[in-house]
Amino acid sequence: MTIESHLTLFDTSLQLLQYPEKSQHVSWRAWDAADEYLIQHVVENVPHENQQQMIILNDDFGALTCWFADAQVQSISDSFVAQRACQRNLQRNTLTSEGICFLTSLDTPSEAPLVLIKLPKSLALLEHQLIQLQSIVHEGTTIIAAGMVKHMAKSVFSLMEKYLGTVTTSLAKKKARLLFCKPTGNKHHSSPFPTQWKMDNSPFIISNHANVFSREQLDIGARVLLDALPNLTNETVVDLGCGNGVLGLTLLGKYPDCRVTFVDESHMAVASAKQNVSDNLPAALERCEFVVSNCLEKVNIPRLDLVLCNPPFHQQATITDHIAWQMFTDSQKALRKGGELRIVGNRHLDYPAKLKRLFGGYQVVHSTRKFSVLQTFKR
Ligand code: SAM
Repeated sequence: MTIESHLTLFDTSLQLLQYPEKSQHVSWRAWDAADEYLIQHVVENVPHENQQQMIILNDDFGALTCWFADAQVQSISDSFVAQRACQRNLQRNTLTSEGICFLTSLDTPSEAPLVLIKLPKSLALLEHQLIQLQSIVHEGTTIIAAGMVKHMAKSVFSLMEKYLGTVTTSLAKKKARLLFCKPTGNKHHSSPFPTQWKMDNSPFIISNHANVFSREQLDIGARVLLDALPNLTNETVVDLGCGNGVLGLTLLGKYPDCRVTFVDESHMAVASAKQNVSDNLPAALERCEFVVSNCLEKVNIPRLDLVLCNPPFHQQATITDHIAWQMFTDSQKALRKGGELRIVGNRHLDYPAKLKRLFGGYQVVHSTRKFSVLQTFKR
């Protein structure tokens, strides 16, 4: 079976791959029917002069940005992986990125006549983005959202109507649908994000930007790992897939000499982790680094003592273990001899087999009915 890698529409064909290419699964494509529907609709229905400047939100792996690469595009995403995929796909198709401005979900774009929204998995992220758009859209702005019907929650309509204006829908095509929003230009809500909660058994108040994992409460897996943290002195630690940073923050509070690098592929996660250290343990900021990265790709610390990790098992809407695999592989390379990787996982996942294969063994240091905390050392 070969990877379906060519998006062909009208008389144009683009080669598109996910990122990183090496962990691409043969049954995954770097675009979906919602991207195709959106591109076709824009090309056939939006006046050419209004296709010259646009905002693209949440492009999965760059299909939309690559298609419209000749225009002035502000491509906004919370995902480092999505933006790396887009940059690689631009190069792969020898498209110029001169007119493309990559922004994170924390940046506010400037006004453009056309706004294309690929509906994100998180409704909170959508809500944040709709509120951000309020200040730069008006009655003349064309706003089109696209998604797969099975992932399109009913509340998407109500959020768009609440924050922007009236919504109409297209017919479904290949199980995808478009939503057309006519902004009224007079809505001025303020954002409920970041939201906050208090961490049990600690004085910490945890702030969470819209797209952060476990935004409303401590994750059960994280709780189990917090009950089984290692004893440290002056170690160099990475909190890998840090989310709001609860794991690293707890270590900083307990061990005044350890250093923690917080790493996540979500810009909002890394910003939340930084805010949480700065709000709760400001004096510890000098012992921290904050890095937006795909696993440890952008982390250049030789001979790490410890990697703590509560791995993700989703990429966008797909359930996958390839990220956990890459996290463990990168940790194995970055740890010093004798350095430790400590992870938490649902007991039905095959993390023990992965650790055995990569590190040659592992121990269970704590477990509950659903979760296990595993430790392994670099030999
Ligand atoms: N450590 C936090 C906790 O325990 O609450 C969050 C754990 S959550 C299960 C996994 C985290 O991994 C998410 O914050 C997600 O954004 C991040 N993540 C997903 N893919 C990643 C990648 N390729 N590189 C780095 N982080 C990633």
